[in-house]
Amino acid sequence: MRVRRPVPLSLLSAVAGALFLVAAPGAADAPVVNDCHFHLTNYIQEGITAKKHLENMGTKVGRVALFGIPLQQTWDHGNTGDFAPWYYTQTDAPLYYYSFTDAYIAMQYKSLSPAEQARFDPMITGFNPADMYAADHIRRVLETFPGVFTGIGEFTIHKEFVSPKVAGVTASLTNPALDRILDFAGEVGLVVLMHNDIDMPFPKPGQDPYQLAQLRDLFRRHPKTTIIWAHCGLGRIVRPVEHQIEMVDRALATAESSHVYIDISWDEVAKYLVATPDSIQAAANLINKYPDRFLFGTDEVAPKDQKSYLKVYDMYAPLFAKLTPEASEKLRKGNYERLFDAARAKVRAWEKANVR
Ligand SMILES: [Zn+2]
Repeated sequence: MRVRRPVPLSLLSAVAGALFLVAAPGAADAPVVNDCHFHLTNYIQEGITAKKHLENMGTKVGRVALFGIPLQQTWDHGNTGDFAPWYYTQTDAPLYYYSFTDAYIAMQYKSLSPAEQARFDPMITGFNPADMYAADHIRRVLETFPGVFTGIGEFTIHKEFVSPKVAGVTASLTNPALDRILDFAGEVGLVVLMHNDIDMPFPKPGQDPYQLAQLRDLFRRHPKTTIIWAHCGLGRIVRPVEHQIEMVDRALATAESSHVYIDISWDEVAKYLVATPDSIQAAANLINKYPDRFLFGTDEVAPKDQKSYLKVYDMYAPLFAKLTPEASEKLRKGNYERLFDAARAKVRAWEKANVR
């Protein structure tokens, strides 16, 4: 019988060193970021396949929250003639809610292998947030496609140039239909990704950004629902309101907003945040102060290759450089994994209990 000797420490460290060397190339291949905000299709429901998007993600992007766009731009021949508009700014014709997007996203997800599916968190978007029946649509999608969805959104309440073009009742933060949606999301455990501008385009001096108070009240009414506020309320024309950083700082400090998170997606937003050394430092200070509350997203729509897909990621390099290692890791990856893993587990449990 051989006598087992304690392994010398020097040998252990040599082995550890060798392992590290072996692991190093793998670490270089490890994903650098997860994307909590990605549109597979555009405003006319055209785009790329989930398979194609895996190519865009390559080894750089680990996981992606996957959705289409809930609104379809009408091609109204009386308005633009033979010109087929593909973006909402190109025509006066209305947008309408296109619920088929949810079936399309579900089928894209189901076309993938289990290992590929694990890299996506599909989201339900094809509902009208001004309709009291919207929550019933979300339930129906979960019942029709169990095992697929992790959250709802991106859906929009106030958005420059978009909300006024939506056919039917105008969505509002005070509409009980939205409360029903957020209650149901909380009950199931669905992550919510909501777009709501922080202000209106071209506000007059001293004009009250009424959205802010309404948003605060909405967050207060739904403490059990995990809500990601897309772009921190910024837009193409809706620029950072005066003292926005201080305002968001105060909002995040209160215990009653502990279920609210912010995504820094969209190149229009990146443009504001990295505009000057001061803006970069101010944004970095805020994220370093609340490292658990911010998520990276691209807000890209059906990108053609990895370079265009990661444009926003590259734009943020100066911001990432100002973050603590902890804040940087959480913003790029950790917070996504924490929120979406928790949601996946809850939604699967709800489906098990409620879907026959
Ligand atoms: Zn978006």
